[in-house]
Amino acid sequence: MKTLDIRNAFLEKFQSVGHTGVPSSGLIPENDPTLLFTTAGMVQFKDIITGKQKKSYTTAVSCQKCVRAGGKHNDLEQVGYTARHHTFFEMLGNFSFGEYFKEHAIEYAWDFLTRCLKIPKEKFYVTVYHTDLEAAQFWKKIAGLSDSRILFINSQDNFWAMGDSGPCGPCSEIFFDHGAHIPGGLPGTVQQDGPRFVELWNLVFMQFERTPKGDIPLTSPCIDTGMGLERITSVMQGVHDNFHTDILYHIVKVSKTLCSGVSSRLFPLKDLPHRVMADHVRSASFLMADGVFPSHEGRGYVLRRIIRRALRFGSYIGTSLDHLSELVSPLLETMGETYPELMRAAALVKKTLLYEAERFEHTLAQGMRLIEGSKSSIQNGIFSGEKAFQLYDTYGIPIDLIQDILADEGINVDHATFELCLEAQKISSRQYRLGGHVIPLCDEETENFWTEITQGQAPSKFCGYHTLEHTDNIQ
Ligand code: ATP
Ligand code: MG
Ligand code: MG
Ligand code: MG
Repeated sequence: MKTLDIRNAFLEKFQSVGHTGVPSSGLIPENDPTLLFTTAGMVQFKDIITGKQKKSYTTAVSCQKCVRAGGKHNDLEQVGYTARHHTFFEMLGNFSFGEYFKEHAIEYAWDFLTRCLKIPKEKFYVTVYHTDLEAAQFWKKIAGLSDSRILFINSQDNFWAMGDSGPCGPCSEIFFDHGAHIPGGLPGTVQQDGPRFVELWNLVFMQFERTPKGDIPLTSPCIDTGMGLERITSVMQGVHDNFHTDILYHIVKVSKTLCSGVSSRLFPLKDLPHRVMADHVRSASFLMADGVFPSHEGRGYVLRRIIRRALRFGSYIGTSLDHLSELVSPLLETMGETYPELMRAAALVKKTLLYEAERFEHTLAQGMRLIEGSKSSIQNGIFSGEKAFQLYDTYGIPIDLIQDILADEGINVDHATFELCLEAQKISSRQYRLGGHVIPLCDEETENFWTEITQGQAPSKFCGYHTLEHTDNIQ
């Protein structure tokens, strides 16, 4: 089955049992200015779940475009290294707003996996929240799972909450066993970090309302589920790694063909730079197609970081400046028909990727050279904060870039000292203007280029700085 067939099978299955098919919302959340990007299928349904909004339907199914890079959900640094994480991915989900609950949610999920997709039952393990005996009972009754296949988890991974108030409840996650030839243990065990057991599907049972007096039962509980399309596609295509599935592998393959540079560098994983570039060209293209453009703040800054991470990995194998923009075509070949917004934005996306590559070339080369020459500033796996500040202050090498380059070798920057140096300099210097310090990498010319190119595009408003984890790194 191709990705396209699996996506359709899911949507059709749930529509056939009465769910309303709801198109994916954009990557910029419409009803939540504190959220950086849409990170899950439920984001567009938030107001229905909380009762603020009424719709004509009470059950829904969707395939949602998601980005998890920056903000509360940030998988950026993992991408390329793991078999299952992307910055952009598609989340399949079925939802019930006060209609069906736990039992039917489990029934539907089990039916889809074992009857529609015909995956053998022996391949699955499930987790439940440690107090949720009801869910465990349903798994036994519906799926006939033995005790050893139902794992009780006592962590927040298995309890979902919208925030300090609002709906919340336990989750049950479905794991797929990719086989004993892959290292790793079951969730909740010491070996759980190995990639053998992969989380496929999260079923969230929203049954409480969080109040200052504690969690009280909701009168109409809701169901929110999410399954990564790339992960279920791996299972169906008989591969362990999402990067070996049809869509992503097509981009990886083109990237390898285009690449003339022979690397002398050893990577912890085969094709690492190509994996990173294949993933990042997807997220960058989808973000731009939804109206986000590289800039020095907010969403645009996250986009720029994604692009620059891809350029950095490309530089390790000597790719040409237009390499990333050349990867837009294989992306369109596999996803353009499903997502026409990609087609519409293609020319702009290609131009932008090339422009960003040209702007970044010098800084990247200089940053890599300077860091290579500063290896004596590493002690016990930590790169000196003072040295990092010097590179930033004197040469304009962004702290994120310094950290990213070093992270590839497992080295961390002493951020606390870096921040102290930055603060000290802010106090002693009059160069800083209100609202942020001078940005060495984002000159007037760049900003004018963007103003020009983005005219006529939907604005991407973002006012959730306070929810960003590393606000100080934004520049
Ligand atoms: P993981 O523990 O593997 O990071 P998660 O628990 O963070 O996943 P959820 O928030 O439960 O993920 O999201 C629901 C589903 O979306 C997951 O079960 C998985 O199939 C998929 N998913 C989550 N994050 C990613 C990602 N970065 N790339 C691809 N698929 C993802
Ligand atoms: Mg995660
Ligand atoms: Mg998880
Ligand atoms: Mg999960």
